[in-house]
Amino acid sequence: MIDDVFDVMIVGGGAAGLTAGIYSSRAKLSTLILNEGAVGGQMVLTNEIANYPGVEITSGYKVANIMKKQAKDFGCKIKSNVKIIKYIFEGNIKEVELKDGRKFRAKTVILAPGGKPMTLNIPGENVFQGKGISYCATCDGDIFSGKEIIVVGGGNSALEEAVALTNYASKVTVIHQFDHFQAFEHAVEEAKNNPKIDFIMQSELRQFIGNGKLQMVTIEHLSTGNIEEINIDGAFIFIGYKPNTESLKDIINLNERNEIITDSEMKTNVPGIFAAGDCIVKRYRQVTTAVADGTIAALSAADYLRN
Ligand SMILES: Cc1cc2nc3c(=O)[nH]c(=O)nc-3n(C[C@H](O)[C@H](O)[C@H](O)COP(=O)(O)OP(=O)(O)OC[C@H]3O[C@@H](n4cnc5c(N)ncnc54)[C@H](O)[C@@H]3O)c2cc1C
Repeated sequence: MIDDVFDVMIVGGGAAGLTAGIYSSRAKLSTLILNEGAVGGQMVLTNEIANYPGVEITSGYKVANIMKKQAKDFGCKIKSNVKIIKYIFEGNIKEVELKDGRKFRAKTVILAPGGKPMTLNIPGENVFQGKGISYCATCDGDIFSGKEIIVVGGGNSALEEAVALTNYASKVTVIHQFDHFQAFEHAVEEAKNNPKIDFIMQSELRQFIGNGKLQMVTIEHLSTGNIEEINIDGAFIFIGYKPNTESLKDIINLNERNEIITDSEMKTNVPGIFAAGDCIVKRYRQVTTAVADGTIAALSAADYLRN
């Protein structure tokens, strides 16, 4: 156990956590960021960020390193490659325990552990991520202008993003494993009424194939067992999102998808505990939205400490 009790402890050093670190250390609050893996989170996986206002096309790695430097320059302490496995949020001083047994304490905690899109886990998926396979229409839609793509999934995200992708792609084929969709009726109608969208139902992807970039997928028609090969330029996968909140169950309020429930000031149901970024209940997961959440969470934590 280290003796320091920080004013603000931040779980996760992605866009949300680093922004919270910048704001709270600049407000002269002693601040510690604990991050599993490399600082930057999903940003460092992003080859190219073209939609962060004020910054021309750049790599996620560069944006992450500038954010990290800004936080450190204001006095924020950052510990990388540490994983929090236990949270003790009773009482005024909050405590977390790392996988290696170390413990850290603070008066407030900002939870920003992010999450990840669910993957199909089929051959070729790892190979063509960022080379034709995407999990984010807002991020990568324009790369496929005039191209033929598939969308995998049958929920609201899949159908709404399929419609959005018709702004770029010449043809969108939605591939879904069941004979019906799980999306709201209005989303299904909108997709069905779009002349650029086709549907292949009761079918599952089996493999991604290409040479340097994605060129083809194989699908299995579940009712017949027949395998079909389809030539495509891109594949968008919307089969769900998994927030990194496993150890927070029964500690704070999560919704049915294990996303952290916050109010508009990023407060959770536990006093002194705030949350920000991709881990919270929200529709759009972007660097800009994570940065906004991180700002609000840090300002709310400062307000909590003042009062
Ligand atoms: C391939 C890809 C491309 C994208 N492209 C764009 C784009 O072009 N433009 C855009 O705006 N957005 C893009 N996004 C989305 C954007 O990157 C995310 O919305 C944003 O970075 C989320 O930030 P975050 O801080 O909430 O979470 P994350 O970036 O996920 O950061 C969370 C951090 O917390 C750490 N962590 C998790 N659990 C623990 C724990 N128990 N203990 C300690 N640390 C923990 C994680 O390791 C991670 O470092 C893209 C995402 C991906 C995956």
